[in-house]
Amino acid sequence: MYLVLLGSPGAGKGTQAERLEEELHLPHVASGDLFRENLRNETELGLLAQEYMDRGQLVPDDVTIAMVQDRLQRPDCDRGAILDGFPRTQAQAQGLDKMLADMGRRLDGVLYIAVPDGELVRRLSSRWICRQCQTPYHTIFKPPAKGGVCDVCGGKLYQRDDDKPETVRARLRVYHQQTAPLIDYYRQAGLLVKVDGTGDIATVSASLLEAARNLMER
Ligand SMILES: [Zn+2]
Repeated sequence: MYLVLLGSPGAGKGTQAERLEEELHLPHVASGDLFRENLRNETELGLLAQEYMDRGQLVPDDVTIAMVQDRLQRPDCDRGAILDGFPRTQAQAQGLDKMLADMGRRLDGVLYIAVPDGELVRRLSSRWICRQCQTPYHTIFKPPAKGGVCDVCGGKLYQRDDDKPETVRARLRVYHQQTAPLIDYYRQAGLLVKVDGTGDIATVSASLLEAARNLMER
């Protein structure tokens, strides 16, 4: 069972991937972890990626694809894997199709955690930090007792530029531009399953699990 998990920043993809890993007993293959592992171990691919990064360039698709291929060929991925953060582009999606075909496997489905932009902006722009002691707050999940004031030291709270609504909206625009072709690609392949990501973590987990089990029975 090979699954791809898609979701915009703030959709809770990392948390959900961990839950799926536990429930389905499939390894969670996160591209970010793969990169860090290859860089840390100074593998051939890691060193190659490092060269591009040192020059301030994007790591080319074929390097990323090779890292994922290397990972999927390890024995713990024999029964499948949950891919997170890969593919990001249509070229990478085609690379994934090819490597799975070479292994005599195929992709079973793509779970897309859908959350409306308004909700994502609300979630992502709720982080505030104390100017004095740096204690982080979240106006939805961990609000201070008194608005704008630190519980610990009474200092004033402020918002980093990255957490401001206008920055978050710009980030989401870029995300949608990049992933729209990928979503189309998987929709046309009949692999895309959209899951409502607006509920609490447990509700979204249950929906994802149900979708994954339906895919397994196909
Ligand atoms: Zn403080």
